[in-house]
Amino acid sequence: MCAYNPAEPMPDSIRCVVMTAPRAPLELRRVPAPKPAPGGATLEMVASEVCGTDVHLYHGRLAGVPYPIVPGHVSVGRVLETQGPLSDVEDGDVGVGRLVTFYDVFGTCGACWHCLVAKAATRCPHRRVYGITTGLDEGLLGGWTERIELKPGVRVLPLPEDVTVEDFMGGGCGLPTGFHAVERAEIALGDTVVVQGSGPVGLNALVFAQLAGALRVLVTGAPAARLAHARRLGAEEVLDVGETRDPAERVRWVRERTRGRGADVVIEATGNPEAVVEGLEMLRDGGRFVVVGQYTDAGDVTLNPHRHVNRRHASILGCWGYEYTHLHRSVLMLARHRRRFAWSQLVTREYPLGEASRALADMEALAVVKVLIRPGLDA
Ligand SMILES: [Zn+2]
Ligand SMILES: [Zn+2]
Repeated sequence: MCAYNPAEPMPDSIRCVVMTAPRAPLELRRVPAPKPAPGGATLEMVASEVCGTDVHLYHGRLAGVPYPIVPGHVSVGRVLETQGPLSDVEDGDVGVGRLVTFYDVFGTCGACWHCLVAKAATRCPHRRVYGITTGLDEGLLGGWTERIELKPGVRVLPLPEDVTVEDFMGGGCGLPTGFHAVERAEIALGDTVVVQGSGPVGLNALVFAQLAGALRVLVTGAPAARLAHARRLGAEEVLDVGETRDPAERVRWVRERTRGRGADVVIEATGNPEAVVEGLEMLRDGGRFVVVGQYTDAGDVTLNPHRHVNRRHASILGCWGYEYTHLHRSVLMLARHRRRFAWSQLVTREYPLGEASRALADMEALAVVKVLIRPGLDA
């Protein structure tokens, strides 16, 4: 896609935010409006999230990102134009004007060894992700834009009737990610669960752990504003890791609350490699430990295989991305439980396209839980 040359007339153009390279100032560009390919669609963007992934993109911490890129991987929009019927998995036709989100992953082949034999579709080498592995050269395939193109085969999911944009976007990518982590954890009725991390993934893991039958969930995280949400969302107790800086003291905090045994399940959602060792120390013998926070390579840690894994009889599980099923079921759960958990309150600030840099800075400073880009605010 060519950038707009202001000397040429461009009747049908839209604006988008472009990240040209790591740490380069974001650019607000005017580009030709996207046209759907056969079997595809375009959406008028209503809201797109700014999340930790976008901060990683900005810092150049993700491998193989095709800059320049339009960021924004989880979004809500209205169907503007389709080329052929657009259907969802449940009700069939999704008409023009419908408020939808979409599974941000496409290109998963269903034919490779990972897809067919290992049944690990999130590790399919052909898998692409909107706003993360899609460069501007390929089209408008990120959410920080007035209009986005849905490639043929992208799975759309209409928002359930009583779910608002703010409800869904308050969950954002943390909703299906936290859901997937809890599925991996196989929480049993009556379990005591520790969630390490009070960002969007940790907060959603806290919610779904309760819905999965946990007796209680303890949350370690920071800063205070995020921990206040953890309390509101049902954490029995929270520990501020900014105040309690000694990991041994944090482990003791968990052990004191579990008769010295440790938690049945620990879900790591911090992004800090040191948290993995700390989490294993918090785990009871025979417990399950899910690592979902290490989305980028933040370095190595030393653990003791005898003490942390073998003798502890620990199950340690990684959790990479999410499949369509996690998005679908987590949205149904959000619709059912939206009054109890009020995900919409996680949306801390909203910015127009022209202020995307401020949104990114907020996210980087952890000053917010969820920041949205709303192109409509520019008008
Ligand atoms: Zn595949
Ligand atoms: Zn995200």
